[in-house]
Amino acid sequence: MEEIKTNTVDKTEDKAAKAKFTSEADILTRATVGDARIYVARTTRLVRKLSLRHNLSHLATAALGRTVTGALLLAATMKNEEGVGIKVTGDGPVQGITGEAQGGIARGYVGNPDVYLPPKNGHLDVGGAVGSGTISVTRYTAGAKPFTGTAELVDGEIADDLTRYLYTSEQTPSSVGLGVLVDEKGDVQAAGGWFIQALPNCSEETLEQLDKNVRNTPYVSSLIDMGFTPERIIQMLGKDMKVEILDSYPLHFGCRCSRERVEGVLQTLPKKELNQLAEDEKTEITCPYCNARYEFSREEIKQLVQKAKK
Ligand SMILES: [Zn+2]
Repeated sequence: MEEIKTNTVDKTEDKAAKAKFTSEADILTRATVGDARIYVARTTRLVRKLSLRHNLSHLATAALGRTVTGALLLAATMKNEEGVGIKVTGDGPVQGITGEAQGGIARGYVGNPDVYLPPKNGHLDVGGAVGSGTISVTRYTAGAKPFTGTAELVDGEIADDLTRYLYTSEQTPSSVGLGVLVDEKGDVQAAGGWFIQALPNCSEETLEQLDKNVRNTPYVSSLIDMGFTPERIIQMLGKDMKVEILDSYPLHFGCRCSRERVEGVLQTLPKKELNQLAEDEKTEITCPYCNARYEFSREEIKQLVQKAKK
């Protein structure tokens, strides 16, 4: 058995401890602060997975990472089986961003995974990649039809765009912070975000204090990179206020696609298009969210044509 050393933490061990810490499992923590709610997510692993799975450039990683983290934060206000979809549509070179979250499970993709722009003020230029356009949020609520609201983009950096959406479309005063730190090689160093939601009748005093705290809080990605847990970030955002931590849950990348679902979509195609597919030896469908590939033989497509006839 190895000897266990104590009180001998040197620089290298410190570094290793930090690396281990920042690669810790992704979580989202919920809390109440006065008459407001605070949600903080650490999504480093999830965003790294998205980046690798879609072979994303640095810039595309930041754009998708922020959007998916935003979706997880909005989903945190809902029940487990309910979900949120965010669609960012702009005239910039990333060609749109789609993020989805249900409980702690999220997925997403961008139109152009290779997007590159020079850094702006030392930061990845997500706003430039997005361009001008709109942000749409769809809420999938249990027992109700999905609701979609849309707002004009503020700057395409996602966080302020979501804040405006929540205010104009859902009448919720809020503050959103999102960040993804990508190193030179393109590896995700840290990712996460916060979402402060004022409850109805939230006092001016609470809003002012929160506003002050937000302005005094460093970038969320820097905090996560330094090893700050979501709970500690909540304490910073709720400084000089009564903070009550409610709960935490794990966050994961996940896709709901399946062969049956893809078949279902194929069946909704016009008969003419299905017949065209049946001319090919095989048809390959790729899920945009996870890149899973589904192959259908000519025979299988023909069977779908038959089923569609019925
Ligand atoms: Zn999929």
